[in-house]
Amino acid sequence: MVAGTKVVFSKVLIANRGEIAVRVASTLQQMGIRAVAVYSDADRAALHVRAADEAYPLEGIAASDTYLRGDKIIAIAKAHAVDAIHPGYGFLSENAAFAEACRDAGVTFVGPKPDAIRAMGDKIRAKESMAKAGVPVLPGFVALPGDGIETIAAGARTVGLPLLVKAAAGGGGRGMRRVEREAELAAALEAAAREAKAAFGDARVFLEKYITRPRHVEVQILGDDHGNVVHLFERECSIQRRYQKIVEETPSPALNPKTRDAMGRAALKAARAVSYTNAGTVEFIVDESGAFYFLEVNTRLQVEHPVTEMTLRRDLVRLQLEVAAGEPLPLRQDDLAPEGHAFEARIYAEDPARGFLPSIGTIRKWVPPAAPWVRIDSGVAEGSEVTPHYDAMLAKLVVWGRDRAESLARLRWALARFVVLGVRTNVEFLQALAAHPEFEAGRLHTHFLDQHGIAAPTTGDPPREALLAAAWASLRTNGMAASSTEAAGDPWRDATAWRAF
Ligand code: ADP
Ligand code: ADP
Ligand code: MG
Repeated sequence: MVAGTKVVFSKVLIANRGEIAVRVASTLQQMGIRAVAVYSDADRAALHVRAADEAYPLEGIAASDTYLRGDKIIAIAKAHAVDAIHPGYGFLSENAAFAEACRDAGVTFVGPKPDAIRAMGDKIRAKESMAKAGVPVLPGFVALPGDGIETIAAGARTVGLPLLVKAAAGGGGRGMRRVEREAELAAALEAAAREAKAAFGDARVFLEKYITRPRHVEVQILGDDHGNVVHLFERECSIQRRYQKIVEETPSPALNPKTRDAMGRAALKAARAVSYTNAGTVEFIVDESGAFYFLEVNTRLQVEHPVTEMTLRRDLVRLQLEVAAGEPLPLRQDDLAPEGHAFEARIYAEDPARGFLPSIGTIRKWVPPAAPWVRIDSGVAEGSEVTPHYDAMLAKLVVWGRDRAESLARLRWALARFVVLGVRTNVEFLQALAAHPEFEAGRLHTHFLDQHGIAAPTTGDPPREALLAAAWASLRTNGMAASSTEAAGDPWRDATAWRAF
């Protein structure tokens, strides 16, 4: 164990893949803890396996046969003297039964208590308990089993139109349908319930007032087993496609100090209402008047947690591990003062020119930008296979600056130098977004991309200046005279790579 920590774990299993598994392994190793990876057949050569100190197979390919198999993962943990399991995000991270199974197997689950996961995993229950705790919630309607369409339509009238049909078990933007006119209600209920049943095995839905041009602003919370809870300020996540976040930043350009303070206090109220422990995120929706309402609590580490780490200079995974080990929080609310401004852009293997279809293949060239204020959390490297089996997010580009303007200038600089060859990516699309004057002005809302018609200017190839920079670097490293065998697999001969010119 390394000085400065009392954490009792010596071996932690990461029940995840991709960038988050690599990122968690890095903190574990910095703390002197052995990082154990698990992997599917498709991930045998994945970066997260190489990043770990030990790695064990989860036979199969589909997530349902591998990263979602709590039983296999716990068996590996037991067989290899693992002290704790970090679930990352997605997969089993918000699965209360898995958290319980870990506890029953004598392995610490790095996350909140099963009861808190369960209470927050049901959006209907969560909204009820938040309303009771005095956290503002949007008007809604919950149908009882057996309610006919007439009763639900009457409920819809009390909520008002437009409204959203949302899945009680929803996540990742799934199980949601917008309803503009009452005539659409029945079909929307049907569709949302069907999607929710398929995705979450739970068809229950509810109605919620729809906010027309909202912002998504969320607050990071952290609690320990000793009754302490702090918030780690907000993240603005309004840049979304199909209810999924793409670019996040902190601080939110929308909040004045008074609203920020009120939102922080509302998040603490939410956390205390469920005796929340470990890391979590209280999501709010902010309307055009600046009023905010509770959306949901994500009971895990969030994809976009690095922007918080950049402005607070705290390692959230380390804090999660300390709290999970039963230590009291090493920070008090008054000690926390964010500094500067951070952006995160999610880099996806997808083709913006073809409806954002996932792009699969071998990563031939991977040259992310490097600078002291740039952080790349990546799940891939040169030679990595991008398969169709899991999430298409390859990496996250995170930048820091003293203020929003400096941070944005750095984001643009970094995007222009991000080289990925072999698969199409959304880098050019992100560049178009980062260049937009309304983005620069911070006038964000969840329909920003559609409203401003942000589209990738060409084909999903890397920016021209990035290619030139990488080509130059590559020539210098490899020498000008490549042998003919090398040239055969040379990404610089790959026609698609050069289409940008
Ligand atoms: P974040 O705010 O961290 O982006 P998301 O809701 O977008 O949160 O989810 C993060 C990841 O977890 C995404 O890859 C998403 O597809 C996945 N995810 C979220 N909820 C679920 C769920 N209930 N079941 C399976 N995957 C989920
Ligand atoms: P998920 O569990 O899928 O993340 P959320 O309730 O957090 O579901 O909502 C995801 C996104 O959907 C929000 O960030 C926002 O863009 C949109 N959304 C959710 N509820 C509303 C609402 N009542 N009005 C308008 N947009 C909403
Ligand atoms: Mg959400």
